[in-house]
Amino acid sequence: MAINSEKDLMSKLLIISNRLPLTIEKHGETYTCRQSSGGLVSAIDAFLSQTENDRFNRRIWVGVSEYPEKTWMAAIPSAAGEYEFLPIFTPAKQYDQYYNGFSNSVIWPLFHYFPSFADYTPSFYESYKKVNAKFAEELAKVIDSEDTVWIHDYHLLPLSGMLRKQFPRLTIGFFLHIPFPSYELFRQVPREWQQELLQGMLGADVIGFHTTEYLKHFCNCVSKVLKTPVSNDIIYWQDREICVKAIPIGIDYEKFQEKAADRTVLLKRSEYLRSKQDRKLIFSVDRLDYTKGIFNRLKGYREFLVQNPGYRGKVVFTLVIVPSRDNISKYAERKRMIDEYIGNFNSRFGNISWQPVIYQYGHLTVEELVGMYTACDLALITPIRDGMNLVAKEFIASRRDRQGVLVLSEMAGAAEELTEALLINPNDRLEIARMIRQGLEMSTSEQEARMTAMQEKIRTSDVNNWATSFFHTLDEVKDQQQQRMPKLLDNFAKARLLEDYKAADRKLFLLDYDGTLAPFCADPQLAAPSPEVLQTLAELSADPGNEIYVVSGRDSDTLAKWLGHLRVGLIAEHGLKQRSVDEDWKKRTGIDPGQALAPVQQLMERFTQTCPGSFVECKEASVAWHYRKSDLTLGPIKAAQLHQLIEKQIDASTLSVLQGHKVLEVKAATINKGNAVTAILHGQAYDFLLCAGDDRTDEDMFRQLRGRSDAFTIKIGAEASLAEYNLLTPYLMLELLQRIAVCGASLKQNELSTIK
Ligand code: UDP
Repeated sequence: MAINSEKDLMSKLLIISNRLPLTIEKHGETYTCRQSSGGLVSAIDAFLSQTENDRFNRRIWVGVSEYPEKTWMAAIPSAAGEYEFLPIFTPAKQYDQYYNGFSNSVIWPLFHYFPSFADYTPSFYESYKKVNAKFAEELAKVIDSEDTVWIHDYHLLPLSGMLRKQFPRLTIGFFLHIPFPSYELFRQVPREWQQELLQGMLGADVIGFHTTEYLKHFCNCVSKVLKTPVSNDIIYWQDREICVKAIPIGIDYEKFQEKAADRTVLLKRSEYLRSKQDRKLIFSVDRLDYTKGIFNRLKGYREFLVQNPGYRGKVVFTLVIVPSRDNISKYAERKRMIDEYIGNFNSRFGNISWQPVIYQYGHLTVEELVGMYTACDLALITPIRDGMNLVAKEFIASRRDRQGVLVLSEMAGAAEELTEALLINPNDRLEIARMIRQGLEMSTSEQEARMTAMQEKIRTSDVNNWATSFFHTLDEVKDQQQQRMPKLLDNFAKARLLEDYKAADRKLFLLDYDGTLAPFCADPQLAAPSPEVLQTLAELSADPGNEIYVVSGRDSDTLAKWLGHLRVGLIAEHGLKQRSVDEDWKKRTGIDPGQALAPVQQLMERFTQTCPGSFVECKEASVAWHYRKSDLTLGPIKAAQLHQLIEKQIDASTLSVLQGHKVLEVKAATINKGNAVTAILHGQAYDFLLCAGDDRTDEDMFRQLRGRSDAFTIKIGAEASLAEYNLLTPYLMLELLQRIAVCGASLKQNELSTIK
């Protein structure tokens, strides 16, 4: 079914890939449309079959149409299947530069560690962006903010960012099906492109990779290129939290198990067993691609025959190469070289009754494929780099007999899971030769033990699991973002707050200082409280039902100097020290990070030399690097670098780094405002709480108070937060406190007149 480009659609799932999984065939004057069944289609089908029916009311697949617009228009009424299809039409030359050019002659070789194959022609990149923009343009016609979009692969790296600009609340997932390279490789891309590609990816809410290695490389590139903090697989970018996660793709395990017992497959299997006679059969199948290590494989096999002449005539290697991207010169060239190599190989080693290599250049039907998986003694999979390699998993899943050996390159993503395979380095032909022999001579009991272990892994993390896990992560992240959505404390909420305040007996105020009670000041020593703030705090504290704490990262001396004369409690250094009304300062015991802080302080001092205007503040149990007076661009860059170095240097169980407003602070890990708040609340029964703060250190307080119906949490500033409400400036906060104070005073007045 084709879709109307109208904005009348409701919560939809949009799957976006380079190509549509659709085949159109012409029979005379009529067309038939068939939904093709790639790995991605079956993954999403499997997930959707488990999903509640009302989750997505439409499923739309978006991709470039292989067919001209005319064919599409003529054929599409007869299309059938699970999905509606939204075709993207692009001019042929532009598509060529986007697909064969940038996607497959820059990203593909570079991300697979073939930097010398990359061709950085600027027009390729221009077309790549244009085609991505065309996707964004067509999508904008059908997308609503409540929809979920799942974008796939390296052809569409900038698309998430393009959509995010237009739809700030849209749920966007992105999955990269190929490796993500180390920074040393990634930095070879022209600088501006690096930034745009990463920024594009960061438009998503969840970015998925096959392995933790790819994920680490990505995070490293983001922090180096975009200078933005990354911690615990969360990236903070443009005021959003983005989750990066390793979710290795699986296969439809049951489908391969069942297929292996299919009648046609069994017939194929018998045919292959008959033709191999009593020889051992080695099998491999891959697309023609320089990343697949086909040469190395042949060389390893050759080495095996050289070292083990007794195997000549007793083993045969069936090598199937599936045509791919043959209009890219590097691929066509490779085909010629392989043809030539196999010709020489067979003529050198073979004879009239035996050919060491049986070579097919062409596709296999699924029956032929599973027939070979189940007939062979050894699958030889030797990519030089491979994002995952599904063939390895399919081979394992097809073996109902739990026999057969997998020789697998450690450079394939699948090797991270399939550790019971015979793992080889694809560049080491001697090792390949050794492992072929070891595999061919492996006892049936060892084959069974290895096969069983690998089948268990593939069964439990199958393709359904992959899609489910991805959507689950997406839901979690959206949930968190939702909780942090800015929500202004409007008049309605203010009225409710005042009503609750009036009705309450014991009222607690937890107020951050800088950025909350006092506007931000370039010199921290100049941020003394204004007379209005002092007066308001004094008025509030005059009510015996009120308890007020100023909860600050500042040192105790400064707080005492500025606020010590008021009847308010003081929390200094994020909770290290506390002074309740009419009491002395108390220090939390058992915490002395002094020794551990010394190297951090030295590091910070080094950074003050490279970042003019920055300075170090040493407190009793923490050390802070302030950059509020530094250059607006340089300051955050240096802070991100310093943050990274500190994270590497410190022991997370002893110290933690806090990114405050233009300050990085390192302190004992157990000291934070959240714990300080817990200590204040301990054993106390308040029936009204007001907690306000402006930076990330205050989020710990908000977290502690989540779910309390008697608490009003307010973030000062427009950014997302765990707080329930936002107020834009400290002046508005002061105004609110003044209103509360006035309301308290009039309440008192009323009480007095009632008594009279
Ligand atoms: N395959 C196919 N036709 C063939 C040979 C293989 O459809 O003639 C399939 C195979 O079943 C597997 C996929 O192609 O699902 C290859 O995936 P893999 O991850 O191994 O490599 P890729 O080609 O994606 O780099």
